[in-house]
Amino acid sequence: MSAALADLGERLPDLLIISEVAREAPQTLEETRHRLSGAALAVVYPSNSQEISDILRWAKAHDLAIIPQGGASSRSAAALPTDARKHVVMRFDRLNRLRGINVANATMVVEAGMTLAEAQHYAAEAGLYLPLSLGSEAWCTIGGCIAHNAGGVNVLRYGNTRDQVLGLEYVLADGRIVNDCHGLRKNNTGYALEPLIIGSEGTLAVVSAATLKLAPAERSSLSVLIHLSDMDEVILALAKARAHFGQSISSFEFMDSLCLRLAADEHPELARPYDLDKPGFHVLLRIAENHENTGLTGAMNAWLNVLPTQQTCLSGERLSEETLWQWRHALVAAEKSQGLVLKHDIAVPIDQLTCFIRRAAMLVARHLPEARPYPFGHVGDGNIHYNILKPVDADDQALAPYQEAISEDIHQLAVELGGTYSAEHGIGLFKTDLLARYTDPAAYSLMQQIKQVFDPENRLNPGKLWGERNER
Ligand SMILES: Cc1cc2nc3c(=O)[nH]c(=O)nc-3n(C[C@H](O)[C@H](O)[C@H](O)COP(=O)(O)OP(=O)(O)OC[C@H]3O[C@@H](n4cnc5c(N)ncnc54)[C@H](O)[C@@H]3O)c2cc1C
Repeated sequence: MSAALADLGERLPDLLIISEVAREAPQTLEETRHRLSGAALAVVYPSNSQEISDILRWAKAHDLAIIPQGGASSRSAAALPTDARKHVVMRFDRLNRLRGINVANATMVVEAGMTLAEAQHYAAEAGLYLPLSLGSEAWCTIGGCIAHNAGGVNVLRYGNTRDQVLGLEYVLADGRIVNDCHGLRKNNTGYALEPLIIGSEGTLAVVSAATLKLAPAERSSLSVLIHLSDMDEVILALAKARAHFGQSISSFEFMDSLCLRLAADEHPELARPYDLDKPGFHVLLRIAENHENTGLTGAMNAWLNVLPTQQTCLSGERLSEETLWQWRHALVAAEKSQGLVLKHDIAVPIDQLTCFIRRAAMLVARHLPEARPYPFGHVGDGNIHYNILKPVDADDQALAPYQEAISEDIHQLAVELGGTYSAEHGIGLFKTDLLARYTDPAAYSLMQQIKQVFDPENRLNPGKLWGERNER
């Protein structure tokens, strides 16, 4: 054990410290898609904010950096340590308590290491609803969702993580603890710091706890999968859904027909909603109400009647709502079965979606005509995961040489259409160049100044957001 770790052991005798990281905590060095492998001096597991503070002071004394890590489900390698001598991973598995639920205030205070699924469960036990929902909810943490400002399938109705957080407790790089876990929906008292920390990817502060806003429990819901011919019809369906259902829409998810065809191959056990072999696009819409017996079916049928649908499958008729959503969740595994995938997490204004899908397909074809676009996503928020699979029967090498040029074009197109190259997955290690290139120069320099104020020695998650500009 190094002298630095021995010193930490003396300062905090009860702290769990793992120094043989590759052997004893290899999962902390893994990136979700195995594009990079990590390296770290140690992993530490604080159990309260005072320990976090002590660890940060210790890191300063030994000139080390802290890499906050929740469930390590980041799609941008934002929690990956990359330096075996300088990087200490801080995990929150021991900082995962429920501090309380206030039903009258409709809030809960949870510690950063609680998984999203657990937090949802506690809210439901109290008769309330935590609407944040992601495919990784079983293992991603509240701290990770906050640091990434995660989105997910319910953004349309409830907003993203930033909209669910009222107060935060966090620890600054110099060890000061800010205890601002308030549960106020109104609080106009100077600069709002929480929104800055939310989405900062562990580069400004370590979050130790949060007050989350809860919604009334949903008591009835209905989902429908529909098959449409083209993107214009998808946009029409969204506009009509807004007009018909207003705030009752919780999700409006979009899937290319290739997505569902491959999901069917990968999951032959899943009951098919309808003929999945036809070309076109599919939309999975979910509406929900806070009371029972709301006449959702009548409203849904009225919406379906004004759409040019090719096929429909309404939950509760042939398939359950759960099964319909299993199709949506099956897309990630189906994609994984295809080898190398080029991933893009773009968003454009809704009125530009048709143009984006058409032009993106042309751009891909210009590089490699046989490559297969596999777009799906939270299209109700303008967010598409515009992923690209290698040609059928080709190996990964067929796609690899085009990777950079294709991604460059897709991101450029999104920005040109008034959109973004990172809708919900953040910047992490992978998009630091894009942040520098596409951010307004004045805004970029303001962001750098903010980093300086919070973390002048660049001790928190170095390399993320800023890349080598700020690498220690
Ligand atoms: C199958 C799958 C589906 C997904 N679906 C979605 C989706 O629909 N929408 C979406 O937005 N994302 C999605 N993601 C991405 C990811 O799950 C989310 O971003 C999630 O919020 C990350 O949480 P985590 O605990 O795993 O954080 P990590 O990956 O561990 O860390 C993420 C970032 O947060 C920082 N961090 C972690 N904890 C703290 C803390 N306590 N204090 C300060 N910083 C901290 C890390 O340093 C890092 O910068 C998905 C990922 C997978 C694998």
